[in-house]
Amino acid sequence: MDRLRFLSIGSGSSGNCYYIGTGEYGFLIDAGINVRTIKHALKEKHLNFENIWGIFVTHDHTDHIKSVGILGEKYHIPVYLTQEMRDGINRNYKITDKLVSCCKYFRKGENIVIKDFTFRAFPVSHDASDCVGYSIRYKNQHFVIATDLGFISKEVADQIAKANYLVIEANYDEDMLQYGTYSYPLKQRVKSYLGHLSNTHTANFLADNWHDGLQYVFLCHLSEDNNTREIAYETVNNALQAKGISPKLLYALQRTVPSELYIFDDIVKEQ
Ligand SMILES: [Zn+2]
Ligand SMILES: [Zn+2]
Repeated sequence: MDRLRFLSIGSGSSGNCYYIGTGEYGFLIDAGINVRTIKHALKEKHLNFENIWGIFVTHDHTDHIKSVGILGEKYHIPVYLTQEMRDGINRNYKITDKLVSCCKYFRKGENIVIKDFTFRAFPVSHDASDCVGYSIRYKNQHFVIATDLGFISKEVADQIAKANYLVIEANYDEDMLQYGTYSYPLKQRVKSYLGHLSNTHTANFLADNWHDGLQYVFLCHLSEDNNTREIAYETVNNALQAKGISPKLLYALQRTVPSELYIFDDIVKEQ
C-alpha cells in the first residue's frame, strides 16, 4: 500500500486537480474542479477522500482553486499556500467560499514534511498573485509538478534535473494559437513570459535536458482551443526520438477525464 501513486482528476482551463500519495493517505495539488467530481474520481480508484491530508495550491487562478475554500473550511482539509495566494483567492470575485481558518502558509524553498512526504514550492513565471511549482519527495523518489508557466527558469530546470516523475505543461500548439480564434491580446498573453508553455517549448527543453533518472512525463494543462493530445504528444515525442530518448512513459493528460491511477515502482538507483 505504500508505493507512490499519482492520479490526474482534471487538467486544463476547465479545472486542475491532481492526487499524489500512497494507498493510505495523500494530497491534492490544486482543487479547480467541484468536490463531487473529486470525490467520485478518488472513489473509482479506491482512494479515500477522508484520507486527503492537505491541498497544495499552485496559484490563485480560478481553474486551480474553485473548491479550495469548501474543502478547507467545510471539510477541514489543510490548505497549503503562500499568504499572497490566500489574499488573491479571497479577492477573486468568482470564488464564493473564502479561506478563513484552514490555511497553512509556507515560503518558497522551505521544506514541508508531512509523514513520508516532503513538499517544496519553487517559483514559476505566470500572471497570478503568486505562482509556484512543487517538488515532492517520497522515500528516494522525486516528483515534480510545473504547470502554468511562461518559460522554464533556471530554478524550474534545477528541479526537473532531479525529477523521476514530471508533470509539465504543454499548453498550446504554436500554429493553432497563431491562426486560431483568440483575440490578439489574449494570444500575446498566452505566449508571454507570464503565460503558458507551448508544446515546442516543452519538447525542446526536455530533449535538451533529458537525464536517465527521468522516467515518466505527463503533459498537462492542454488548451482546449489551441492544442490536441495527439499534437502535444507527437511534438514532444518527436523531439525526444530525434535524440534517441525513450521515456518509460510519455502521456498527454486528458482535460476532463481522470487518468488511470499510476502506481510507481521504487527507484532502486541512487539519484
Ligand atoms: Zn491554469
Ligand atoms: Zn494560471
